[in-house]
Amino acid sequence: MPVSKLPYPDYKFKSGWNALLPARIPNPELAEKIEIDVAIVGAGFTGISAAKRWRELQPDATIALLDSSEIGEGNPGRNSGFLLEISLAEDADARNIEKMAASNKLISETMQHIVSEVQKSGMDCDIKRAGTYRAAASDIGNRSLNKYQAFLKATKTPFEELDKSELKQRLGTSFYQAGLYSPHCYLVQPASVIRALATNLPNDINLFENTAALSLTANKNKNGWTIKTAHGSIQSKKVVLANNAFSKDLGIGKSCLVAMYTYAGLTPQLEPGILECLGSDKNWGLLPAHRLGSTLRRTADGRLLIRSHYGYEAESSIDVIRTKLRSRMQNRFPQLDQIKFEHVWGGAVGFTFNGGALWGEAKPGLFVSAGCNGGGTVKGTLLGRLLANLANGKEVPNVAKLFGKASWMPPDPFRALGFHLASLLENIQGHKEL
Ligand SMILES: Cc1cc2nc3c(=O)[nH]c(=O)nc-3n(C[C@H](O)[C@H](O)[C@H](O)COP(=O)(O)OP(=O)(O)OC[C@H]3O[C@@H](n4cnc5c(N)ncnc54)[C@H](O)[C@@H]3O)c2cc1C
Repeated sequence: MPVSKLPYPDYKFKSGWNALLPARIPNPELAEKIEIDVAIVGAGFTGISAAKRWRELQPDATIALLDSSEIGEGNPGRNSGFLLEISLAEDADARNIEKMAASNKLISETMQHIVSEVQKSGMDCDIKRAGTYRAAASDIGNRSLNKYQAFLKATKTPFEELDKSELKQRLGTSFYQAGLYSPHCYLVQPASVIRALATNLPNDINLFENTAALSLTANKNKNGWTIKTAHGSIQSKKVVLANNAFSKDLGIGKSCLVAMYTYAGLTPQLEPGILECLGSDKNWGLLPAHRLGSTLRRTADGRLLIRSHYGYEAESSIDVIRTKLRSRMQNRFPQLDQIKFEHVWGGAVGFTFNGGALWGEAKPGLFVSAGCNGGGTVKGTLLGRLLANLANGKEVPNVAKLFGKASWMPPDPFRALGFHLASLLENIQGHKEL
């Protein structure tokens, strides 16, 4: 079983979303030794948000943000572009209304912050409050759908119930038996959004791209931390790890985090004649009711996207991915004779056993926010901001209570074995949802 040894993602395929955007000149790599107040590893939703908040709180602090990739090409530019204004299904708990109301409020305020950042950037990002569908293709999916519906009802969140024929009429697929539509979601071009957020970084925050943190060690005099990169190093009084699954490869979160790879395929713009057979809704997103199911989108510019399949700690081969994505798309749209993808790519997601976040001060002066569990665009933006508050002595809400706390997982090989067995079982039980 191949296990990646690099402490950062090194993707085989380019992000399809980023490929649709004009070329961008990346910020230079770190190529010297620097001494600063705070180093933030990972310029994703979490890291950018932490950096901006830190600047607000400490106008004179020297801050560096480093990313192993280029903005737009890395993980935050690889997702399916669902920015939920309310808690995700995995976090939804209809029995705890007070908690859900508090977390929904924080998430929706953060979403408004992202919307205003996008507006400020002047970049379009295809951002639209298009809402989201959730749909089930079998009994197992229906059970999850009912649970989510209970949460929506309990939190008095508006939604519409849809049967098979209504879904077919709107989306052009008969694959699903039942679904819900909730307006509380923005759809975006994710590579464009992360570019927009990075564009708004204050000029005096040093952003180093193509700069992976290769190691992280505590200084001997206990005064801060040293980060080694390929061509430079950083001595920093404080460090924030905002690099999701890869924080474990820098020594934090080994006992609770795994990197799971999931994949997306994006078609070329479809012919008008084909689009006419795809239902009345022209820009939509559908999240699976079952957690192993596939995410679907029809973009405003007339493409279809599917996100599906998981791999443990390493990217699968392009042939396996293409075949799986194509057959799952074909199952949903048999009327499209030959599904061709213009782009296929993968991305790493930081998973924890119980879905809780790894968040807080891990060691003196070393802070971490990791374990997005597949839905960390808005939540990561929130948790990055709260982490900067915590590190600067500000009052913060009880993150563990609101968003859970990552639980312990057995080490490999038991962990890998557990994942493969659980995924085999779920693939059998939930095969109709795949
Ligand atoms: C195919 C796919 C579809 C998804 N769809 C959605 C969706 O629709 N909605 C949603 O909310 N979430 C979705 N997700 C999950 C989403 O991408 C993450 O939750 C979100 O990006 C988390 O943000 P983050 O900033 O915490 O971490 P990340 O986006 O993972 O960012 C971490 C950054 O750290 C960098 N990094 C890693 N290691 C190092 C290192 N050693 N040194 C320097 N830099 C490093 C990475 O390059 C990356 O830029 C999806 C993920 C995938 C893969």
